[in-house]
Order: sequence, then C-alpha cells, then structure tokens
Amino acid sequence: MLQSSRRSSRTPKVVVIGAGIGGLTAAALLAKRGYAVKVFDQAIVPGGCASTFKRGGFTFDVGATQVAGLEPGGIHQQIFEELEIPLPEASICDPACAVFLPNETVPINVWRDPQRWQAERQRQFPGSEPFWQRLASLFEYSWRFQSRDPVLPPRSGWDMWQLIAALRPDTLLTVPYMFSTVAQLLKSYGLRCDRRLKTFLDLQLKLYSQVDADQTALLYAATALGVSQSPQGLYHLHGSMQALSDRLAEALRRDGGELYMRHRAEQILLEQGRPRFVRITDEKRGESWLEPADHVVANVTVQNLVELLGTQAPVGYRQRINKLPPASGAFVVYLGVEQAAVPTSCPPHLQFLYDYDGPIGENNSLFVSVSRPGDGRAPTGKATVIASTFTEVSAWQRTADYEQLKQQYTEQAIARLGRYFDLRPAHLLQVEAATPRTFEHYTARYQGTVGGIGQRLSTFGPFGFANRTPVPHLWLVGDCTHPGEGTAGVSYSALTAVRQIEAS
Ligand SMILES: Cc1cc2nc3c(=O)[nH]c(=O)nc-3n(C[C@H](O)[C@H](O)[C@H](O)COP(=O)(O)OP(=O)(O)OC[C@H]3O[C@@H](n4cnc5c(N)ncnc54)[C@H](O)[C@@H]3O)c2cc1C
Repeated sequence: MLQSSRRSSRTPKVVVIGAGIGGLTAAALLAKRGYAVKVFDQAIVPGGCASTFKRGGFTFDVGATQVAGLEPGGIHQQIFEELEIPLPEASICDPACAVFLPNETVPINVWRDPQRWQAERQRQFPGSEPFWQRLASLFEYSWRFQSRDPVLPPRSGWDMWQLIAALRPDTLLTVPYMFSTVAQLLKSYGLRCDRRLKTFLDLQLKLYSQVDADQTALLYAATALGVSQSPQGLYHLHGSMQALSDRLAEALRRDGGELYMRHRAEQILLEQGRPRFVRITDEKRGESWLEPADHVVANVTVQNLVELLGTQAPVGYRQRINKLPPASGAFVVYLGVEQAAVPTSCPPHLQFLYDYDGPIGENNSLFVSVSRPGDGRAPTGKATVIASTFTEVSAWQRTADYEQLKQQYTEQAIARLGRYFDLRPAHLLQVEAATPRTFEHYTARYQGTVGGIGQRLSTFGPFGFANRTPVPHLWLVGDCTHPGEGTAGVSYSALTAVRQIEAS
C-alpha cells in the first residue's frame, strides 16, 4: 500500500470516470491507499443511480432505495471501516419486501428472521421446502466463497490465484449447479408448474437479475434471494440514499482525492496500448483538456466504455458487447403524499404483480418504496412513495409519442398504486416521473439502461465482464461487472479493481 505521506510527482495518477457508488468507492479506497485520484462526473450530484433529487420539500431516491451489505462483515461495512468513516444511519427492512400476487390482498412477506421466513414460505408454497433448502445451502457455500474475495472472472495469473485461494471443498459443491437456472432447479423438485411459486420467484429475480426464473443463473439467484435473511439483511438509509455517496466523497477529499462534478469524460486515449489521457470537458465552462493518467477506472456501462475507447476498443471486446441481449430500462414514478395516504403498518418495500399474462416486469408490476416518518425524506405528516417498473428502452427512443407515453405510464402507475394507497387528489402533493431517457440524461448510461447486463448463465460470475479489461491499466467497475447490480455489488467490484491496481 502506498502511503499518503509518500505521495510525490511519481505517485500513480488514477482518473476515475463516474462518481456512482462504484466509482466513488474505488476512488476513496485508492486515495486512502496513497494514489493521486481525480474523479470526473457529468452529473450535478454524485451517486448516479443511487443519488437523490428534491422537489416541493420532498427528497426522492432516484433509483436504489434498499441497501445490502451494512451488517458487520458486509461489503459496505468493510469498506467504510477501511476508510475510517461511520456507516450512514439505517434501519433494517423487515419484511425485506411484501409481495402481492395478482388478485391477492395478503402479501408474501419476506421476513428477515430465517425461521419466520421458513414458516411463511411453507404456508405460502406448500411442498416447496426441499427447493428452498437447496437454495439455502448454495447460498451458504457461495457466500463463504465470495467473502474470501475471489476475482471473477479471472483474466490474469494474479486473478486466477485469488480465485484458487478462495476455493474450499464446500465451494466445489456449487460446481454441479454452475450451468443451472432457477427454473431447472424448480423442475428437478417437481415444482415447475407451481404458478404462485414460479411467479413469486420471477418477480423477485427480475428485481435483482433483470430476468426471470427461466433465465436467471441459479448460483446468482441463491445469493440474491438469500441476503434478505439474518445475519445479512436489507436496510433503509436515514436521510436519503445520498448519504452513501456523500460519505464516500468526504473520505475521498480527506485523503487528497479530487471530485469534479459536471465534468464529462469524452474519450480515453491510449498510447502503446495503455490509457495515457482522458479527454475531459468542463460542461459549465465548455473547456476541454487532456487529463494524464497511469490508470483509468471507468464507472460506466460496458457499452459506454467501448464508446469512450472509440476505434481503439479491442475488436473481440466490442463484438462481445454488441452481441449482449438488450438490457432493461426503468420507468419510475415519484410521489410526495400526505401520510394519510399510506396504510398504517405499511412495510417500507412492496411488490405488486397486476396480472399473470405477459412477461413479468414489463409494465405489469411495480416495486414500491415508502419513506418512514422522520426518515428525512418528507416533511412532517407527509411521505414519499416511489414505484418502478421495468421497461424496454427502445419504446422510449421514438420522439413523436414520448410525452404521451410518459403520461400514460404515470397515470397507470398512480391508478394501480391507488388500489393500496389512498391517493385521492388531496393526498397527492407531488408527482414526478423518470423514463429511460431521463436516466440516459442524468446518469449518461447507454440508452438509459439500468442494472447492468443481467445475470443469465452466459453473463453471470465466471462468464461476465471482468474489472480487468483487455486494455492494461484500464479498469471497469459498476453493475456491468461481477457480482452485478446494487450498491453492495458495485462496491465489491470497486474493491476488486483496487486490489488489482495495487497488485499491478
Ligand atoms: C429504479 C432503480 C431501482 C433500484 N433499486 C435498487 C435498490 O433498491 N438497491 C440497490 O442496491 N440497487 C438498486 N438499484 C441498482 C443500483 O442503483 C445500481 O446498480 C448502482 O447504483 C449502480 O452504480 P454504478 O456505480 O455501477 O453506476 P451509476 O450509478 O450508473 O453511476 C455512474 C456515474 O457515472 C457518471 N458518468 C457516466 N458516464 C460518464 C462520463 N462519460 N463522464 C463523466 N461521468 C460519467 C454518471 O453521471 C453516474 O454518476 C436500482 C436501480 C434503479 C434504476
């Protein structure tokens, strides 16, 4: 580890493109470890999909609302400990989610306590316990493996060594399941035709992996579904999601790092096959320059990375990216409401499916996050209700009917939410909506896609995109890399890239 006090003109310079949770985490860790770090982000506030905006006295979380990895030993806790900054205040979500299937008024509650969750699922899905037990054991093996910091997918001798060092006999028990989907496991337990169970899994998996049980890699699903239970768990931050990026930015600056907002990276320039400069434009002043770099950490989507490299992008890498299945976008409606609109004892996160027809998540479901009284998001006596659904980005690219489509989605979402919340006009104080175009504008993500590349068999873990790109000294962090989307996932990717930079 380089020490800050030993920083000199020969200290390696790292340019980080993007101040999402992935970029900020990498930057803060590198600054703490003695590197000269400059972060450039095109947005006004840091945090990317985990940032916030304010309207009419309400603070809305743009995208992420639930946080994993805050428990002792969790990835955020580990990183904040290394950075010597306090974790943001948070409360546990219990249930992590209340899931309402079509025409049902009693939810499936994903409780944090493992015994309570076991009793709930046995009641909700009779005869499925052996399936859940198999998932639980795969989660245990995978979690222990992941906590030994393997590098996935390995792209060098050092990466391979990290991977081998993390293996234990119980890791090998996961190998037979490496090429299985969740639906295949369901089938092996004779549960393929259990519509309620399959639909519940489709709904939950869509949130974490972009795809349903038919396509989600089983080993990924075991982890995504397992983290809701104790000793892990999902948390709701006090104040807002911005607390996470604000603390990381604070640590970065304390350790000599520099953060420039409204600065766009236009191009990564290679010399002798390595990044030497990044072309930066200060969007306020309209000035551009070449920022020298020994390492470049790109906190962008893989598609954006190729755009930044232009004709210098390795051909095979570009071809692989071109062949990826389309990623999802999100439509989000942000409501500021009177507290009276929220039923008493409403859980902080709910998921609704409105009909069994059509692919899950394509505008027939809503994932809803509700503020708690006093959690800093709404004035006294008021609350925020944020609801999102997946949507194809291509539908939003046509200009002619864009405003009409946005209005139609907004009205439909409010009408559906009105079945659970009391959204009479007097209770509805603020309405905002975000489409893939909004995400493209504010986060610069390729076509406004969110949540990475999806966790299919062909793209999860060992088969996904590595933090180590084919260009030496160019690193990719964020939700397109292992272990995928979520603030916890991208923090893990950042930590891996930092270890790789040190080892290089
Ligand atoms: C609706 C929705 C709900 C979600 N819910 C949850 C949840 O409850 N829990 C959870 O953990 N996760 C959730 N997620 C996912 C989570 O928000 C993301 O996976 C994660 O925040 C992505 O972080 P990142 O660092 O990879 O990238 P991003 O958040 O995309 O950040 C990238 C940053 O890079 C900047 N940037 C991009 N290109 C350039 C450029 N050329 N020059 C300069 N800057 C650039 C952007 O401005 C942005 O700030 C949700 C996402 C969405 C959209």
